[in-house]
Amino acid sequence: MIRETDIKAFSQRQTPFYFYDLEALSHTVDRAKAAADRYGFHLHFALKANSNNPVLELIKDKGLGADCVSGGEVRKALEIGFEPHQIAFAGVGKTDDEIRLAIEKNIFSINVESMEELIVIDEIAGQMKRKARIALRLNPDVDAKTHHYITTGLEENKFGISGWQVDDVIELVSKSDNLLLDGIHFHIGSQIRTLEPFRNLCGRINAIQLRFEEKGIKLNHINAGGGLGIDYQAPDDALNPDFEHFFKVFASLIDLRPGQQLHFELGRSLVANCGDLISRVLYVKKGLKTNFLILDAGMTELIRPALYQSVHPIENLSARSLNERAIYDVVGPVCESSDCFGKAISLHKSDRGDLIAIRAAGAYGETMASHYNLRKLGDAMYRFA
Ligand SMILES: *Cc1c(COP(=O)(O)O)cnc(C)c1O
Repeated sequence: MIRETDIKAFSQRQTPFYFYDLEALSHTVDRAKAAADRYGFHLHFALKANSNNPVLELIKDKGLGADCVSGGEVRKALEIGFEPHQIAFAGVGKTDDEIRLAIEKNIFSINVESMEELIVIDEIAGQMKRKARIALRLNPDVDAKTHHYITTGLEENKFGISGWQVDDVIELVSKSDNLLLDGIHFHIGSQIRTLEPFRNLCGRINAIQLRFEEKGIKLNHINAGGGLGIDYQAPDDALNPDFEHFFKVFASLIDLRPGQQLHFELGRSLVANCGDLISRVLYVKKGLKTNFLILDAGMTELIRPALYQSVHPIENLSARSLNERAIYDVVGPVCESSDCFGKAISLHKSDRGDLIAIRAAGAYGETMASHYNLRKLGDAMYRFA
């Protein structure tokens, strides 16, 4: 939510920068937690969606764990104060140093994505004379029906161990003295807006669990990953996203064994709505067919529209007239034609210097920012609860 007082504060600052509404974040995390607590589910936050310090501190203080995909993220989570036993670590290409760090800190689970990686972890744990606590990230071959760049649970994707290899992997784990198999892990994709892919995932998880039990393996935890999508067009809707129905699917469809824990790694659904990219209009450039609104923010600050054709709501926060509207192609200053936030967008009539908010940018916004064109993003601004 952007308030009048926020807009006043924005007008004193150099743009572009990210604005985080920590009050909204607190509300969202509370809702997610209440919905998960009903079933005793465990929540982790995927740091790659947003690794801004106050955002992470708030989430840590609410008692969530962390989900990391690099050694840098594991270090960051520890620095913020997440407990090692709350940290899951996935990724198809973990380096030896990253594996050593995870074993050294004795984190909750190293989520192993291939036979090749398992062999290396076994070797490194042996050298360190330690036991590596692992989960196997399995590829459930479930179609998330989302943008193909953010689908991860299909056989053709690079993520996870495929069904045909599971027997060999179990054999290696069983033979090794250096590996402690604690659970199985899944993550089928991101911005998933229907519950059907999650229902299908539950069915696959049940079948896979039986396969492990047939081999005499008991699993302490199942980690169903993240992926719950949000309605990008309703950033101020206090019930967006719908955590209750999401967790209910798992509660009713997964056959958990007594004492078995079910974990989730939510990223986008927790933070997307609490962040906005604030920028100014540099020029209103006349075209023959369309007028361009050229902002001082671009794909270097928020790459999602260029990378995934995603559509963020755009608002003029300081329009001189609330009665006049106009149609614009809203673009950034970067030297790429894909540097475009939206075509034929209806906005309040806009002028040079107007403040523009690109809404629902709290997930995969600031963390994906780059220095391309030697551009510089200002420090974030916060409204505390
Ligand atoms: C990115 C990621 C998540 C979070 O995904 P969201 O769609 O943002 O919820 C969870 N788990 C893993 C392993 C990931 O890579």
